Amino acid sequence: MSELPTQLVDRFGRKVTYVRMSITDRCDFRCVYCMDEEMTFMPREKLLTLEEIVFLLKAFCELGVEKVRITGGEPLVRRNVDWLFDQIGQLKQNTSLKELTLTTNGSQLPKHAEALVKAGVDRINISLDSLDSERFKALTRTGELEQVLKGIEAAKQAGFKRIKLNAVIMKGRNEDEIIDLAEFAINNGMDISYIEEMPLGQVDHNRGESYCSSDEVLEKLQTRFDLQPSIASTGGPSRYYQMAGTDSRIGFISPHSHNFCSSCNRVRVTTEGRLLLCLGQEHSMDLRDIIRRHPGNMDKLKQAIVKSMDIKPEGHDFDIEAKPVIFRHMSVTGG
Ligand code: SAM
Ligand code: SF4
Repeated sequence: MSELPTQLVDRFGRKVTYVRMSITDRCDFRCVYCMDEEMTFMPREKLLTLEEIVFLLKAFCELGVEKVRITGGEPLVRRNVDWLFDQIGQLKQNTSLKELTLTTNGSQLPKHAEALVKAGVDRINISLDSLDSERFKALTRTGELEQVLKGIEAAKQAGFKRIKLNAVIMKGRNEDEIIDLAEFAINNGMDISYIEEMPLGQVDHNRGESYCSSDEVLEKLQTRFDLQPSIASTGGPSRYYQMAGTDSRIGFISPHSHNFCSSCNRVRVTTEGRLLLCLGQEHSMDLRDIIRRHPGNMDKLKQAIVKSMDIKPEGHDFDIEAKPVIFRHMSVTGG
């Protein structure tokens, strides 16, 4: 058996140190850019079990992965999720894992925030696209702004090292709230990232028409704030600016206008254990099959992960006008 490396490096010399893991495709919201109103979710037996998720992440973290982000769907609707975070948090003690993070819509944070901090979740991203409850309802279809604001408060009280808000900006829906959302972040001592809508899955609206570029968002923000380009990096594709006179940073996630593939350090694992080597391409490896065919065999799993580095593509080629480029919804891939 060939020796296993201590680091994952792809054909283009990029080190993979970051895994985003989707732990459920289910969600209590139906955001218009993310899901259909009527969704068919995956049958439970197809999902990785919580134990399989821990096993898989352990393999990655023994291969040099330093950062794990748990996402979905809405991760906090998965049953026994506190146990899962506890287990993953423990990987910090005996693997290369340094940072455990979570992306959530915030609705379940009042129940889980404290346990998450205790388990070792360092940073948390909370999605918030509007501060107007009717509009929030229209964007999320089933979400309640009040509940999410309570979740944000619970996160503040629980003491995460850093909280960041995520806002997808859409023309004609919420682009007039760009400044209000930034002010909300500043007043709460949080960061905020603005995300360009990505063409993942078929949705009801024309994504070409709703698309709002990060440059447009930046321009609007600069009418109000003094933004200093920041060299900060969180190991993700965001570009950051510091808001002068505050603790808050503003980030931009811009897959269309600023291609970040050359510095890509990440892979994704879908809810059913498919390792995706690029968000915008279909290159993948079925890790669930390997885990189920060779239960408990860590070396087999690690060998497969190492081998997958040979098929990581050089980059994505999203085109917002051509729809849909990728048929998976964001909720399956994990945002
Ligand atoms: N449910 C959690 C949440 O909403 O934060 C985690 C999963 S969600 C898929 C992760 C992030 O992806 C959210 O910030 C969401 O706004 C974003 N997202 C979903 N669909 C998107 C799309 N088509 N384009 C850009 N961002 C998207
Ligand atoms: Fe659910 Fe998050 Fe998708 Fe909204 S963006 S539908 S909260 S998974």
